[in-house]
Amino acid sequence: MKIVMVASEVIPFAKTGGLADVVGALPLALEKHGQDVIIIMPGYKAVHNLKTPVIKNFQEGVSYSTIGKNIRVYFIDNDKYFNRDGLYSEKTGDYTDNLERFSYFCKKALELLKTIKFKPDIVHCHDWQSALVPVYLKTTLAEEPFFKDNRTIFTIHNIGYQGLFAKEELFKTGLDWGVFNSEMLEYYNKINILKGGIVFSDIINTVSDTYSKEIQTKEFGFGMEGILNKRKEDLYGIINGLDYAIWDPSTDNNIAKNFSIKDLSGKNAAKVDLQKLCKLPVKISVPLFGIVSRLAQQKGFDILAEGLDAICKMDLQMVILGTGDQKYHDILEAMVKKYPKVISLHLKFDDTLAHKIYAGSDIFLMPSRYEPCGLGQMISLRYATVPLVFKTGGLADTVNDKNGYVFDKYSKDELIKTIKKTVKDFKAKKSWQELMLRGMKYNFSWSAQSQKYIQLYEKAKAK
Ligand code: ADP
Repeated sequence: MKIVMVASEVIPFAKTGGLADVVGALPLALEKHGQDVIIIMPGYKAVHNLKTPVIKNFQEGVSYSTIGKNIRVYFIDNDKYFNRDGLYSEKTGDYTDNLERFSYFCKKALELLKTIKFKPDIVHCHDWQSALVPVYLKTTLAEEPFFKDNRTIFTIHNIGYQGLFAKEELFKTGLDWGVFNSEMLEYYNKINILKGGIVFSDIINTVSDTYSKEIQTKEFGFGMEGILNKRKEDLYGIINGLDYAIWDPSTDNNIAKNFSIKDLSGKNAAKVDLQKLCKLPVKISVPLFGIVSRLAQQKGFDILAEGLDAICKMDLQMVILGTGDQKYHDILEAMVKKYPKVISLHLKFDDTLAHKIYAGSDIFLMPSRYEPCGLGQMISLRYATVPLVFKTGGLADTVNDKNGYVFDKYSKDELIKTIKKTVKDFKAKKSWQELMLRGMKYNFSWSAQSQKYIQLYEKAKAK
């Protein structure tokens, strides 16, 4: 099949979260299964600053690179829109011209397909930033012979981000008022781009089975539950895979010493290295909790902030890496001042440090209020770092009491209770080691998950 992925971030070119991991890894696995894949993403400043992979000029406004064996990645360039430090936002908030930026991106992505004569069987779009692609295909481009036989798949990586804009901005999309009604893009008198993706795609999926059910409820649907219910026959859940070429403690060159299921000894070296780096007391006997996350309420920082004072009084250490809401930056900074020997805080995006935390921690803390899939818990399992999670979405689908700790009532008290239990269990070395080894055996490879995507593409083609 000829497949084009259209997405706003892709590793190794630009990343703010799990979306980039997915769109960077899934095509590699699809290629291995014999599929013909290309990717289209914006040519951000970060992309053009890369030394490797090499970025080449393709034509005015488009550059390209290659990943995998022969997967072309095309970048839609435009200095006005994409030559900026951020992908979607700056310190003061979202860029105010995001609708213009991503309408431009979607239109140009479709134009490019014609230029390069890549007539896709499947157009696979991800999140609101590429959701206008299926909208254009079923509206302004509906009569175009070139796009006649394709099918669209829309993957929702996080329904909390919808691309909401004032209706006065509709002209920026090039769509006419015919789409501004409650069955299409209108949402409480605003334009909702994600809703457009849901309505106009042939198949919709999200990144775990549990989340695909959760988003059909009021509690998790962020207002999209009604429209998703209407489309439930076409709604699927496929849990993300992990790229084990990147996330493998036996080959990872970011960590102090490699280790594997056969020889765990390097894990202690990774812990000592992390403690030293974080200026925490070097003590193997104290459980070290790691967090690598966006600092947002979604990720559980509300209950964590409430409970942190009590947590810091326990016999443990904590390393936190992340950026996000200023509110949580402030709360965490205050906690570090109070407990400098317990918490080490790193308010930045740092891939190398992330690897060191996954490897050097004993427990990975991920108390997300909701979590479409979550990669941190899967990465930590492979690094013999026991995940502690709230039972929701992809966390519920991947962590259980055989490989980690799960609490099922979202409250600071339950979080504290579970951390307390973990700290106690950590002391029982033999059973803890067994728990670590069981976790390492879980295999969330893209090879299997990509086959589920191929089945989904086949379903779409049969429609
Ligand atoms: P989300 O996409 O909702 O942010 P995921 O768990 O799906 O959450 O994916 C997050 C990805 O981003 C993981 O690969 C995680 O390691 C990485 N990540 C998050 N914050 C940081 C950070 N501050 N520095 C480095 N990597 C980070």
